[in-house]
Amino acid sequence: MDINTVDPEIAALIHDEEKRQAGKIRLIASENYVSRAVLQATGSVLTNKYSEGYAGHRYYEGQQVIDQIETLAVNRAKTLFGAEHVNVQPYSGSPANLAVYLAFMKPGDSFLGMALPHGGHLTHGAKVSITGKFFDAHAYSLEEGTDILNYDTIRKIALEVKPKIIIAGHSAYPRIMDFAKFREIADEAGALLWVDMAHFAGLVAAGVHPSPVPYADVVTTTTHKSLRGPRGAMILCKEKYAKAIDKAVFPGLQGGPHDNTTAAIAVALKEAASDEFKAYGRQIVANAKVLGEELSKRGFQLVTGGTENHLMLIDLASKNTGGKAAAKALDAAGIVLNANAVPFDTRKPMDPGGIRLGTPAVTSRGMKEQEMKVIAELINAVITAPEDEAVRNASLATVDALCKRFPAPGLEELA
Ligand SMILES: *Cc1c(COP(=O)(O)O)cnc(C)c1O
Repeated sequence: MDINTVDPEIAALIHDEEKRQAGKIRLIASENYVSRAVLQATGSVLTNKYSEGYAGHRYYEGQQVIDQIETLAVNRAKTLFGAEHVNVQPYSGSPANLAVYLAFMKPGDSFLGMALPHGGHLTHGAKVSITGKFFDAHAYSLEEGTDILNYDTIRKIALEVKPKIIIAGHSAYPRIMDFAKFREIADEAGALLWVDMAHFAGLVAAGVHPSPVPYADVVTTTTHKSLRGPRGAMILCKEKYAKAIDKAVFPGLQGGPHDNTTAAIAVALKEAASDEFKAYGRQIVANAKVLGEELSKRGFQLVTGGTENHLMLIDLASKNTGGKAAAKALDAAGIVLNANAVPFDTRKPMDPGGIRLGTPAVTSRGMKEQEMKVIAELINAVITAPEDEAVRNASLATVDALCKRFPAPGLEELA
């Protein structure tokens, strides 16, 4: 029976969410629209199968098809990223990261990651995270004044702490990290180098961002951000760590992999290997650059003064507002993004001093530089007059027209 018959309540809510996703300008840097093909794989009968273990070594029978699917996903990832070994089973980015700790660390061991308020991820040692509770977490920060990484400072901390692992990678740093420098520092400190490319994996796949794979011992990534796949994750590593990583994922941390997700990852990786995806990656970066420039022109203060990737952070102090109020006013005006701490933020985490913007989702709709200019003007108008109903309505009308002109992938019939 159809979901509309079985559960009309949930069916209606899914439809509401479809309309919301189709009809808003989505600037959340970690979100995207997957293709219809990826949606189809995600919503397939593969969700019915148990397949603990790895291709050729499973605990349950009936793996004739699943083994082929997982092998395709692994091989596509190896080819696309030039990795020696890939595990596609982690349920999401956070479990993938936990698997890395489990593979290489004992409780209490020390590691060094980027501070959460400076762009690091929760799982890079934040106090509220298991990674900050079970391990001796140390953090490097951005340099005050430039808001850019200072590799001499990172080296100093690394030589002092002697961490087992150094993590490079971030959720909110608008610049390209220097993986070669991180490699040097890790070697000097006798640490493993782990790069978490969750945010920018799609840019790496498209060849518009340096790849961490040649430098890092281990690379983790989500598959649902700029890579445009289903919610999931992968761990890429050197062959010599393959066993440790695979054992950490299963049986160390997880049971059966989500085979529907694995198939959808395989589809997304095939798409990501195409020339269209290379053009997509270039356009993400071009769009971010223009959106940033247009906002700068309107008096917005970009952290680090600009962007080299898909995202930007805006310090709203110059606009006399906080991140939460701005994000709420924009949401009401059809533009969805998130409040975000800026480096050296003095405001509370629930109402930080800035907003984070990213271009992967709008670029998936086919929007280009011209549309970024329109969006920048809408953002400026709404943040300048957050209570003004006429401004809000004008923004909603422009958003509606843009969304109709650029239908969201997988939701074309709602345009
Ligand atoms: C998003 C993200 C993660 C976590 O991914 P989830 O799927 O939300 O668990 C991990 N690391 C970084 C750098 C991220 O940006």
